[in-house]
Amino acid sequence: MNYPTEVNITEVCPRDGFQSLSEFIPTEEKIQLINELIDCGFKQIEVTSFVHPKAIPQLKDASEVLQGIKRKKDVKLRALVPNLRGLERAIDAGVDKVKLMLSATDSHSISNANCKTFDAMKGFETLVKRAHDSSVGISGSISVIFGCPFEGDVSMDRIIEICKRYIDLGIYNLSLADTTGMANPIKIKRIVEEIHENFPELGLSLHLHNTRGMAFANAIAGLEAGIKDFDSSVGGLGGCPYAPNASGNIASEDLIHGFEEMGIKTGIDLDKVINIGDKLQKMFPSYANSFILKAGKCSDLHLPPIAQEKLG
Ligand code: ZN
Repeated sequence: MNYPTEVNITEVCPRDGFQSLSEFIPTEEKIQLINELIDCGFKQIEVTSFVHPKAIPQLKDASEVLQGIKRKKDVKLRALVPNLRGLERAIDAGVDKVKLMLSATDSHSISNANCKTFDAMKGFETLVKRAHDSSVGISGSISVIFGCPFEGDVSMDRIIEICKRYIDLGIYNLSLADTTGMANPIKIKRIVEEIHENFPELGLSLHLHNTRGMAFANAIAGLEAGIKDFDSSVGGLGGCPYAPNASGNIASEDLIHGFEEMGIKTGIDLDKVINIGDKLQKMFPSYANSFILKAGKCSDLHLPPIAQEKLG
């Protein structure tokens, strides 16, 4: 199997991780964290979401956060936008890219956005036009594409129809999200390959959750199916909405460590990411979820027991 020599990782903790925390993180701390993440070498960071402040109070300071970040030319800052009002706020705050959220199934869409999947897409038309006019990048996402907690598997016909409608809207980059950790490597390969075959012009990325311990295996299946873009969250922050104690996003340090061990370059300073993860774990011990924070890196060698005895 030929794996790529390098991949791109988008850090999503400031949006996906923080939105799951109940206690409010002061704006200055959010800005500081994002500045530190930029310093790690991430070239794209999902920094916030321009939802209604009442919907996610944690992210009510979206504009202030964006405006406070020490920008670097080659680092793209992305935000989620649910509607035109959110998009206008995001543009005013100076975002580089926006992402639209969409659920693959009607029941998940209704529980999240109060309307069915294709009705939600109708509202996207004005957003895409506005984003194109303002030269802000725009991408789409498909939540629960690898399995819905209400409906189970999503049919390939439906997935193809959603991709087709995204392309009709003028969106050529899609994030495929395993929102509740129901994917497996075979499913990932089958769905990604089928989308690639039908729409070779679409850029795809994977947003994997480690809810059932499958995320890294799924990332490898993604690589094998030609994916080179992944989302992850430092410290593994960001839970599973239907299982309060379950893991959510794959931890950035786990994904980066795994890829680098395989000789696949990420361009990110793993030690710096681990330091941030450590800090977050101390701040939010019940939310952090990361193998590398627990076990350390493979390259952290230890003295064998006998040698320790002799030294002691
Ligand atoms: Zn997520």
